[in-house]
Amino acid sequence: MKILVQKFGGTSVATLERMKQVRAKVQAGLDRGFKMVVVLSARAGETNRLLALAQEWSASPDLAECDSLVSTGEQASIALFSMLLNDSGIKARSMLGFQVPITTDDDFGNARIRSIDSEILLQALEQYDVLVVAGFQGCTEDKRITTLGRGGSDTSAVALAAALGSVECEIYTDVDGVYTTDPNLCSTARKMDRVAYDEMLEMASMGAKVLHIRSVEFAKKYKVPVHVRSTFTDNPGTLVTQEDSTMEAVLVSGIAYDKDQARVSLRGVPDQPGIAAAIFGPLSEQGVLVDMIVQNTAFDEPTTDMTFTVSRKELPKTLAICEEIKQKIGAKELLHDATVAKVSAIGVGMRNHSGVAARAFSALQAEGINILMIGTSEIKITILIQEKYVELAVRILHDTFGLDWDLGV
Ligand code: ASP
Ligand code: MG
Repeated sequence: MKILVQKFGGTSVATLERMKQVRAKVQAGLDRGFKMVVVLSARAGETNRLLALAQEWSASPDLAECDSLVSTGEQASIALFSMLLNDSGIKARSMLGFQVPITTDDDFGNARIRSIDSEILLQALEQYDVLVVAGFQGCTEDKRITTLGRGGSDTSAVALAAALGSVECEIYTDVDGVYTTDPNLCSTARKMDRVAYDEMLEMASMGAKVLHIRSVEFAKKYKVPVHVRSTFTDNPGTLVTQEDSTMEAVLVSGIAYDKDQARVSLRGVPDQPGIAAAIFGPLSEQGVLVDMIVQNTAFDEPTTDMTFTVSRKELPKTLAICEEIKQKIGAKELLHDATVAKVSAIGVGMRNHSGVAARAFSALQAEGINILMIGTSEIKITILIQEKYVELAVRILHDTFGLDWDLGV
């Protein structure tokens, strides 16, 4: 049995008219001889509406009940779409997470998939040509409904594709693929034909919102090619896949940015063992996610500076914790700045080529952009700058690395 998994996002199922366009995509799969597993999101706006209801009804909504409530958005989509398919003579039925079952842990609101039983799905596919499965939801061992976190339907789809051995997982959305950078910031941004899993992970974690980050982790782990494409055109989209030598020939594949950054600096901290632990231990214990970290090298002074970034909404909490740390370790000053942003150049080609950082730095210097912090990994260079320079920096780097040309550099 040849199986193809397709997933459609909230805007693609928002209205009857749009669902008819979705039906055409499903029909195209059937015409190619596939049995289809179609994963749907809730209709656009529905998840937000349900979450707002929970807030209205309860001062602190029970998390398990909240999942039971918000998961109904997907239940409505799959039932409506199955009706539509049946009316046009396609044998289809809907399936909720617990009916599959898609088993998750019990982290309500942000659950992780533990296993998918393909047995029932495969049996049902003997009888039906299309199974319409609710995205975003699963259930615990003891059958409580869970949800996978906002945007989680992508992860449902990729996990189902892995479990069923689908040739690829098609993710249909309202954009036509993954771009070399945000087209709203940079008019020369170009749709990528292919992008490596690792590059996509870096882009997603930088706030490129096309795919739920966990779906990319899943795809990488189980080697599922993910094809991101538009419901509303027939154009090929972007294939998120394993890297190969042609990808490595390109130095930089994309430029990502993240404006949700705040910089915190503890100045004059004693330069001795245990200081980093004394600072970052309490922060992590209280759930603050620290992003970039830079510690100055102290050569002959007894103190050094420790600077790091956090998300802006974590800033008040971070400062409160750091004020205590400052007293405890005898640091001189606590400074902060919430008008910073980070910009990254990402590319698996960096693994084998040097000089990318130097090129990026001189391009920024030519525009008079001051670099506040620098971070690097094997496939990424990140710089922290003042937020007001983000657009300029993105455009400069996009141009410097030739991303508006066809082959890059
Ligand atoms: N409906 C859920 C959300 O809005 C899941 C999804 O669409 O992927 O986050
Ligand atoms: Mg989404």
